[in-house]
Amino acid sequence: MTERTDHTHDISATSWVESANGHPDFPVQNLPLGVFSHGESAPRGGMAIGDMILDLPAIAMLLEDPAEDAALTANAPVLNMLFAEGRGPVRELRAAVFALLTDDSKRADVEPHLYPASECTMHAPFLIHDYTDFYTGIHHAENIGKLFRPDNPLLPNYKYVPIGYHGRSSSICVSGTPVKRPNGQTKAPDADVPSFGPTKRLDYELEMAFWIGRGNALGEPIPVTEAEQHIAGISILNDWSARDIQAWEYQPLGPFLAKNFASTISPWVVTMDALAPFRTAQPPRPAGDPEPLPYLQHDMSAAAFGIQMEVLITTPTMRESGDAPHRLSHGPMTAMYWTAAQLVAHHSAGGCNLQPGDLLGTGTLTSGAEGGEGSLIELTKGGKQAITLPNGETRTFLEDGDEIVIRAYAERDGFARIGMGECRAVIAG
Ligand code: CA
Repeated sequence: MTERTDHTHDISATSWVESANGHPDFPVQNLPLGVFSHGESAPRGGMAIGDMILDLPAIAMLLEDPAEDAALTANAPVLNMLFAEGRGPVRELRAAVFALLTDDSKRADVEPHLYPASECTMHAPFLIHDYTDFYTGIHHAENIGKLFRPDNPLLPNYKYVPIGYHGRSSSICVSGTPVKRPNGQTKAPDADVPSFGPTKRLDYELEMAFWIGRGNALGEPIPVTEAEQHIAGISILNDWSARDIQAWEYQPLGPFLAKNFASTISPWVVTMDALAPFRTAQPPRPAGDPEPLPYLQHDMSAAAFGIQMEVLITTPTMRESGDAPHRLSHGPMTAMYWTAAQLVAHHSAGGCNLQPGDLLGTGTLTSGAEGGEGSLIELTKGGKQAITLPNGETRTFLEDGDEIVIRAYAERDGFARIGMGECRAVIAG
């Protein structure tokens, strides 16, 4: 084991919650946090364990401080307060719950506070004050750039500045919420004037997202070497995009209505502690690329995440026929050109204050290999080459009734696989 791992990552640990043992996402080594409700009960903090959800406030009396205090702080409709103090309280809570769930003698006390996940409703884990979407997927940036500037796909700032824009938090939806096809202004290349109506080029973007835990005071930047202490955990993000609206509106200030109608997040916050075994070296920059400026330099030896991601589609016809979802693309999270720590440090470098529950998207993570395209605009070469699904249907962009599912997981020899769960949404007309 590396120095970052401890007994909570031991592959031999098993739980008396039988469905947790060998669970692809939520074995006892994971214990992600989310906000759930069951029946008419109020939304509150829970942990995923196998096919069940553990009611954190309800088991507080079985814990000792500081884990008890953390479990009581989870008695809220959002987890901002729980993560606001930094990673320490949640680390204590995760370790204490691990002890309960691996000890048969605790079963009788804990089991009444487990609910089948299939009976629960998941809610957004945080009150999301601000959402920023970066552009760290360099292969995506090159692919998109080529569509507009074949000779010069990457703009000269890309390898110096972690490019991003301030997005819209009010329309971030939790997995399972249908996405309504947006109206907007579009202008066909051969038209003299724009028209208003439903987007014809609705796309997904395969992304991951970092939740901010402890914030920083206005005017006090977060040094890159301390940045990870401000990250609560990771979820999956689908940054839905209307490409025709985007093409007409994006200059000179960037995306607006093309991106603000909906973004979907997976409901579980997989903590940095759970991810410790899966940290990996940031891939070296290609020869000839500039070194990051000093305020963005830090230890790269375990700065990246060994997480695999995949995007799947089902169409209404596929679901009626009982067909398996079709995988559109897959690839690793190491497609990020910038590290999570660099994103946090850069975001706050001018003094911007990050707050608990802020969401930082990675940008579309295209792998650079065949089958690793993180969006339909890449898969279809800008909408010019339709893709054919196994049942013969074709798609250039998403049609009403299509469902996109993104999954992500981490595997490493000697450790239990853990997953992020699902980020799922169907396109409503
Ligand atoms: Ca994006």
